[in-house]
Amino acid sequence: TEPKIEGFVPLFQSWESFYTRNVYRRIRDCWNRPVASSAGAYIDVVECKSDDHNWSLELTEKKYHVMNFGSYNYLGFSETTGPCADSAEQCVRETSLSVTNSRQELGYTTVHQELDRKVAKFLGVEDAITFPMGFATNSMNMPCLVGKGCLLLSDELNHASLVLGSRLTGSTIRVFKHNNMADLEKKLKAALLEGRPRNHRPWKKILIVVEGVYSMEGSIVRLPEILLLKKKYKAYVYLDEAHSIGALGPHGRGVTDYFGIDPKEVDIMMGTFTKSFGAAGGYLAGSKALIRHFRLHSHSSVYSAAVPPPIAKQVISVIDIISGIDGTKKGIERINQLAWNTQYMRRRLQEMGFIVYGNKDSPVVPFIVFYPTKLASISRKALERGLGVVVVGFPATPVIEGRVRLCMSAAHTKEMLDKTLDILNQLGDELNLKYSRKTPPDF
Ligand code: PMP
Repeated sequence: TEPKIEGFVPLFQSWESFYTRNVYRRIRDCWNRPVASSAGAYIDVVECKSDDHNWSLELTEKKYHVMNFGSYNYLGFSETTGPCADSAEQCVRETSLSVTNSRQELGYTTVHQELDRKVAKFLGVEDAITFPMGFATNSMNMPCLVGKGCLLLSDELNHASLVLGSRLTGSTIRVFKHNNMADLEKKLKAALLEGRPRNHRPWKKILIVVEGVYSMEGSIVRLPEILLLKKKYKAYVYLDEAHSIGALGPHGRGVTDYFGIDPKEVDIMMGTFTKSFGAAGGYLAGSKALIRHFRLHSHSSVYSAAVPPPIAKQVISVIDIISGIDGTKKGIERINQLAWNTQYMRRRLQEMGFIVYGNKDSPVVPFIVFYPTKLASISRKALERGLGVVVVGFPATPVIEGRVRLCMSAAHTKEMLDKTLDILNQLGDELNLKYSRKTPPDF
């Protein structure tokens, strides 16, 4: 019971919680469902009963063993067997799970040194530093780069970790329309004009913050144009490759690989290990001087325990495989398989009449649903028919732009893709989801 004092506001009250209380309460089982398996090609999802009164989900005995199109397991490395799992397991025996300390305080092992170097080499830059959490890699390190008196230009669809990181910098933040170069240039021009009367540059630094692949839209950043603007207006670029590293480009090296750009042109390369690497944590990469700066000044490195070594070992093994250091072609086969699966799924969904968002090469494949209530039906009906998908609504998307988001994986077989397409085709008819019946674009 809340105290009856005028002006008292409960700690947790906000518009968002009002919305979630009233709309999402009835469809709560579509999120937070416990999983009882690895996030592989198939996944075991536990059935639960929603206890509205206590805001909790009660587990039942029932499990759905379904095709997994929800996890960010782009290259299929979220495996429980194979060389990566073996090397991580061996590392637990040799180094234990945790280093218990930060890098500065005997928490920096030879495994970390190997990881930092492998990441830098894989990306094609001078140096890299790694952190135990992708979210914190952004949010805790952006304040090391810019602060008061600086201007930060952020894509409107940037991830929450970038938004939080940007706010924590204390710089002036201006948001530009998603992937819209005209709007970005307009904002850059206007910002520089602000210094005219005094005839000097009004900002200490200008940082443009973008992602490689946007995880709700499936769009790919217009990096070549951004780099031109960066040079023209003497700004810096911070690129979050959480969804593009491993998943994009002929060698899986992300957006620069995809566009054929020298990675050294990007000032700060950031990425996470949770997705294509089937591990956890994140990296920052770039010039030697930049990484030295982070080693000395990053609060999340200096005051927080380093990456658990077995996790580092998993990432090292994945890099060895995808860059062919293991002496096989297995890595490149996975990269090609992911690209094929992505293009096939996108083309077939469009042919069926779904409105599919994003770039044809993006392994994030969202199709629009609009209605929150339809989201719930899709999630439930898909599970019953053998398919696990993620449905996304407010606040991750605008309230009326709910969508189903398929995450493609190299672990999906053609048979799985066809079965999934059959299920989605049925659901599309039953729930009236085929909003576009136009001929799909030829690619
Ligand atoms: N950046 C982006 C663009 C992301 O989508 C995410 C999470 N999905 C993160 C950072 C945070 O990464 P992690 O989940 O590894 O903490």
